[in-house]
Amino acid sequence: MADSADGAGTGRAHNAPCSNRDYDFFYAGLEEGRLLIQRCSACGALRNPPSPSCPECRSLKWTAEPMSGEGEVFSYMVHYHPPLPGFASPHPVAVVALKEGVRFVAAMDGTPVESIAIGMPVRAEFIRRGEVASVRFKTA
Ligand code: ZN
Repeated sequence: MADSADGAGTGRAHNAPCSNRDYDFFYAGLEEGRLLIQRCSACGALRNPPSPSCPECRSLKWTAEPMSGEGEVFSYMVHYHPPLPGFASPHPVAVVALKEGVRFVAAMDGTPVESIAIGMPVRAEFIRRGEVASVRFKTA
């Protein structure tokens, strides 16, 4: 397989999701252009990353709730190494505080690092990385 233009010599064009029973709903949502986050059916708490039980009340019952995709940069870092398939290097990665009240770690590739600031309004952008549906955040 040929590298993508920014595949950084890894031999792969993108990172395939590492899904499992906890994450399958999330990736299925991305295929539909939706950012889904778990909400506990017992106490109502949102939780991310996905997990089998609620960290607040330990309930195993939950639903997948679509988020607005709106939020602000809570924190960010710049990834330099190792090279990641499908990403230019360096590229920014942010912790986004979604307006619904849960945080989400997301790529911000496509946004110049020097333009990113804590508190900056951002919104989700649904994209494809090769065959894989994905989400990244960009300036709102
Ligand atoms: Zn709960």
